[in-house]
Amino acid sequence: MSQQRIVSGMRPTGPLHIGNYFGALKNWVALQSAYECFFFVADWHSLTTEYADPSKLPQWTREMAADWLAAGLDPEKATLFIQSEVKEHSELHLLLSMLTPLGWLTRVPTYKELQAELTAKDLNMYGFLGYPLLQTADVALYKAQKVPVGEDQVSHLELCREVVRRFDSLYQKNVFPEPAPLLTPHARVPGLDHRKMSKSYNNAIYLSDTAEEVKKKIMPAVTDPARVRRDDPGNPDVCVIYDYHKLFSDSATVEMVNVECRRAGIGCVDCKKKLLEGMEKLLAPIRDKRTELMQHPKQLDEIFDAGAVKARKVAEQTMTEVRTIMGVK
Ligand code: SF4
Repeated sequence: MSQQRIVSGMRPTGPLHIGNYFGALKNWVALQSAYECFFFVADWHSLTTEYADPSKLPQWTREMAADWLAAGLDPEKATLFIQSEVKEHSELHLLLSMLTPLGWLTRVPTYKELQAELTAKDLNMYGFLGYPLLQTADVALYKAQKVPVGEDQVSHLELCREVVRRFDSLYQKNVFPEPAPLLTPHARVPGLDHRKMSKSYNNAIYLSDTAEEVKKKIMPAVTDPARVRRDDPGNPDVCVIYDYHKLFSDSATVEMVNVECRRAGIGCVDCKKKLLEGMEKLLAPIRDKRTELMQHPKQLDEIFDAGAVKARKVAEQTMTEVRTIMGVK
């Protein structure tokens, strides 16, 4: 039986942090062995919010490519490419825009939410309104059956399903499958200050951070605020260090911290040192591979160029069908 096909992208906005790793990338690494995967660096999507200053975009794109390979995505298993290298994404976006009612776009919940959140940017632009349709094109182009999402993102897929359904019913054809959500465990990783981990909050630990940089971020981090002295019992459930232990440490260490913190058997300094050991074990190989890849940008470009060739083959087949149906060359 042929493997089901899945598609997903990630917007390059800087180096990836551990929230991106545990929230998506780690899942992708697992999925690449079970599905036929198309993963793309969504550089056009970055322009929907970064259009005014795209000067860093080439660097961000390359860093993301390096982060992916360093974290274990394998071009032999998954098709890895840069979105703007496969122009068919934009062509399908354009053609689908002809039959997408405006109201479907304005009612996407994230449209208003993000506009309200990113007040420093003028997002009153067509590109920003149309980005869910570009996402639809990203998925439909490969006729993906599944899209990996967390539970809170299922609604994002709804527009995509509606648009492809409309295409097929309008032209009485059977071109696009309706992509189903592939629910994957998305770990929520808090930032060092307990807020959402984000570059803009300056609370992130990056896959590119050196061991020294990670240490400098972890050691001063606020733990259980009620634990003032070493012999005060603590509550790991309110401590970001314990959250990180659950991601990086083995189960025996997690259990030890859970028990010893509550009875003041371990101090926060030792607890953090123990965490750093676990972090280093996971992050060091990723960091080393990433450094090596960043030193050979040509090799990195070649891997993603080859991915684009593979992606274009599939994309071109879909576009031939769509162009014929819509009466264009
Ligand atoms: S012992 Fe560890 S889990 Fe407990 S408060 Fe200190 S850093 Fe947090």
